[in-house]
Amino acid sequence: MSFKEKFIPDLFVPSVLKIRPEFFIENGIDCLICDIDNTLATYGEKLPQKDMLDWLNAVEATGVRIGLISNNSESRVYTFNTVLGYITVSRAMKPAKKKLLALIEQMDRKKENACLIGDQIFTDVLCAKRAGIKAVLVRSIDTRGKPFLRFKKHFESYFMEEYYKNHPRY
Ligand SMILES: [Mg+2]
Repeated sequence: MSFKEKFIPDLFVPSVLKIRPEFFIENGIDCLICDIDNTLATYGEKLPQKDMLDWLNAVEATGVRIGLISNNSESRVYTFNTVLGYITVSRAMKPAKKKLLALIEQMDRKKENACLIGDQIFTDVLCAKRAGIKAVLVRSIDTRGKPFLRFKKHFESYFMEEYYKNHPRY
């Protein structure tokens, strides 16, 4: 894999809710690792919204094991997970791959069948690619009041253009 390819997601969707729950199992993925902030919820939402909870339950019902990986604090992840009960890792230090690989092992799944979903190319996609797993990129749910995130999005657009060379544009 070239240096550039480490920044290009396997799939981009505006929201995880656009992905049919069966999509993962149909594509050989039985281990789904989700970023929390701006992927499953906004920074302000302490718990998943109803539509997100329903989606996660529907994915899990297809036989996929779900884990949470976040660079955020233990208390953020713990609270968010109270209604989910997943295996989690906080302060994951993405894009470092160590804690991601440890999480997949803890979930008793193989990295060949794993996929990470996140909203940031330079943390989530890069982390997945370094670990050698699939990466799904979603649009950040809410970047209001986070000027640095919008700044990063500017740099991400270069890699998204690479992605669109081989994928339909949303
Ligand atoms: Mg995020």
